[in-house]
Amino acid sequence: MELFQYTIRKKISFAGIGLHSGRPVNLTIKPAAVDTGIRFVRLDIGVSSSVPAFMNKVVDTSLATTIAQDEAAVSTTEHLLGALAGLGVDNAVVELDGAEVPIMDGSAGPFVHLLQKVHRRRQNAPKRVLKIVKEIVCRDGDKLIRVLPHDGLKVTCEIDFAHEMIGRQTYTIDVNPKSFAREIASARTFGFMDEVKKLKAHGYALGGSLDNAVVVDQLGVLNKDGLRYADEFVRHKVLDLIGDLALLGCPLMGHVIASKAGHAQHLRMMQAIATNPDCWRFVRLEQAADNTVLERVITTTKAAGNKILPFLVPPAAPFVGGTCAA
Ligand SMILES: [Zn+2]
Repeated sequence: MELFQYTIRKKISFAGIGLHSGRPVNLTIKPAAVDTGIRFVRLDIGVSSSVPAFMNKVVDTSLATTIAQDEAAVSTTEHLLGALAGLGVDNAVVELDGAEVPIMDGSAGPFVHLLQKVHRRRQNAPKRVLKIVKEIVCRDGDKLIRVLPHDGLKVTCEIDFAHEMIGRQTYTIDVNPKSFAREIASARTFGFMDEVKKLKAHGYALGGSLDNAVVVDQLGVLNKDGLRYADEFVRHKVLDLIGDLALLGCPLMGHVIASKAGHAQHLRMMQAIATNPDCWRFVRLEQAADNTVLERVITTTKAAGNKILPFLVPPAAPFVGGTCAA
């Protein structure tokens, strides 16, 4: 875990289309001050257009993660937030002129590529980390997420699709900027041809194509160049999970193990963390004179946590997705 907060050195811009709306959208990521976190600003809707990337702003998890505050909604946040969190960018303002983050090539690769090009800037403030000290388990039918204590952020995802091309796949990664960029960033979103047809008939995935998703039918992968990794499907699930975890508002220190989970279960697990303050501590990491890393506990109590991170206030979306126990 790094000791300091980071932003980016200069602004970077992207142009693309929304996966679900099919509409063109321009997006710019700008450097931001210490303790800003990640904040989205809708340039196309005037006043009260700002929405912080926090879990209590989540209003929909059905096809992608959507956050909103007042009139400002931003959907499909997960790949961009995954890129920022995966590369260790704590503070940034993301301006966009539409309601959906551009899907780019269906992965976090294009975001990561430019973010790495402009480099990060270290800021003169310590990172605050949410350190898991006791296991939390969330069950929703056959979907399961566990969060365990771990020194650093480790993510394990498992998927199991009754399809020859996919089947059962598991992936585990110790997340840091290097491993994230190399193993996870380029994994694309995926869908099944018959489901894609249904979605389009209902007015979703209108921007979806073989340029921004891996599409599979009974015979195999329809994309001409095939897969980027043999296990690209499960790697993409790791990306989605890291992107949703960014909505905690600070880095997580723990091992998250997710089986057959999606955005709804990711949110439910974060809500379970928020409502079980005995399972975690907020800590600030400091380097001691002898170069060892010291943990300074900021708070262990929910009341004090409220002042530091807004994720403990009641969520915008009701608790859904099974039951959780600490
Ligand atoms: Zn995704």
